[in-house]
Amino acid sequence: MTDVLIVGSGGAGMSAAIAAREAGATVVLITKSALGASNTGRAQGGIQAAIAADDSTADHFDDSFAAGHSDARPQLLRTLVEGGPGAIAWLDSLGVAFTRDDDVLRIIRCGGARRPRLLQAGERTGAEMVQALRAAVRESGADVRESTELSALSRDGDSWVARVRAKDGSETEISTRAVVLAAGGGLAGEAARLGLKSTNHPDATPEVMELAIALGAQAEHLDSWQRHPTGALWPAALAGYALPETTRSYGATLHDVAGERFVDELAPRDVVANAIIRIVEEGRGATAPDGAEGVWLDTTAIDRENGAGFTAKRLAYVHNRYLRQGVDITKERVLVYPVLHYRNGGLVIDEQGATTLDGVFAAGEITGGVHGTNRLMGNSLLDTVVFGRIAGRSAARRPLA
Ligand SMILES: Cc1cc2nc3c(=O)[nH]c(=O)nc-3n(C[C@H](O)[C@H](O)[C@H](O)COP(=O)(O)OP(=O)(O)OC[C@H]3O[C@@H](n4cnc5c(N)ncnc54)[C@H](O)[C@@H]3O)c2cc1C
Repeated sequence: MTDVLIVGSGGAGMSAAIAAREAGATVVLITKSALGASNTGRAQGGIQAAIAADDSTADHFDDSFAAGHSDARPQLLRTLVEGGPGAIAWLDSLGVAFTRDDDVLRIIRCGGARRPRLLQAGERTGAEMVQALRAAVRESGADVRESTELSALSRDGDSWVARVRAKDGSETEISTRAVVLAAGGGLAGEAARLGLKSTNHPDATPEVMELAIALGAQAEHLDSWQRHPTGALWPAALAGYALPETTRSYGATLHDVAGERFVDELAPRDVVANAIIRIVEEGRGATAPDGAEGVWLDTTAIDRENGAGFTAKRLAYVHNRYLRQGVDITKERVLVYPVLHYRNGGLVIDEQGATTLDGVFAAGEITGGVHGTNRLMGNSLLDTVVFGRIAGRSAARRPLA
C-alpha cells in the first residue's frame, strides 16, 4: 500500500509528487509514456504571476475572472493568483532560469492582462519547467513508473485500488490511501474524435477524467474548450502548431484578405479566436494553396516595431520552425486559423485540491472552476504548480488525518 498514487507527469503531476514526498508520504507516479512527456512540455509562451512592482494579485484576479466570463470559482481563482509569486520562487529554486534582460526579469503583457505579467524561461517555458521538475521528481524518491497507464480505479474501504496497464499490455494493481489525478484535459483525444487538429501532445487523452466521472466525481464546464487563435494554417506541415501569443505581444497584427485589422490582438483568446472565425464566415478570409481559409498574421510588424533581428532573437523557435518550411516570418506574413488547444472545464475541486470523491484529489487541466469558461494565457502553467503542490500536500496528509 502506497500513501499517494499520482496519475500523470505534466506540471501538475510532477509538482504534486514533489510536494507529497516533501510532506513525508510514499509516492507512486504512473505516466503514459516517458516522465514529463506532456502538454506542459509543449508550452512556449510563459507563466503568469503578479510580481511586477506596479502589479497586484487583485488585478491578476480581476483580469482572469473577467476573461473567464465570471464563471471561475472565486476562491479557486484567488488561490491561483495569490500562489503566483510563491510558485515562481519555487520554480526558480528548482533551477528554472526565468529570462532577464540586463539583469531585470523580463515580464510581458499578454492577451486579457491589463499590464505585463507573463514570465518566460527562454522561448519554451514549459520544456524548461519539465526539465527542472523531472530532476526534482527523480531526486525526491518517488517510485516513477513510465509507460504505465491508469485503466481502472475502484474503492476498497477507506482506500483505492488502481488497475494499471504497461505498454506490453500486462496489468497490475496498486493499492493507495489517496490518489492525485493529474492527467490533463485530454483534448488531443477529443480532437481525434471530432476529426480536428489540436495543439496537444498525443498522450492528452480524456479517459482518466471520464473514469473519475463514471465513479461519481462532479465536473463542470466540460464542453468549454479553448481554441488558440493563431494556429498555423500554411505550410500544411505546420498544422496543429500554434504561433505563441507573444508574437502578438511583440506587435504582430491580424488582417483580413483586404488587409484590414479587425480585432484588438491583445483581447482574451476567445474574443480573438471568435473574431477570426467570424471574418472567415463573412467571406473576408484569405485562402491557403490547399483551399483552407484563415486570416493573415503580420509577423513582419514585429521587427518593424522592435528593430531588425528582434524576431530571430526573441522568437527564435517559431522563426526557425517556419524557416525549416521555407518561410521567413520576418519577411512574409503567415496564414492562421484557431486550433483546439485547452479544456477550460473539468473535475470540481475545492481549495485543497479535493474532488468530490473521498481520497481523490486533482490538479491542472483535468480540473474545472479555476479559470471559468475561458483561460488567460499563462495561467495554466501557474495552475499546474499552485494546485499540483496543494493536491500533493493534501493527498499526503490524508492518511495521517
Ligand atoms: C502547444 C501548447 C502550448 C501551451 N502554451 C502554454 C503557455 O505558454 N502557458 C500556459 O500557461 N499554458 C500553456 N499551455 C497549456 C498548458 O501547457 C497545459 O494546460 C498544462 O501544462 C497542463 O498540465 P497538466 O499537468 O495538467 O497536464 P499535461 O501536461 O497534459 O500532462 C498530463 C499527463 O497525464 C498523463 N496521462 C494521460 N492519461 C493517462 C493515463 N491514463 N494514465 C497515466 N498517465 C496519463 C500524460 O502522459 C501526461 O504526462 C499550452 C499547451 C499546449 C498544448
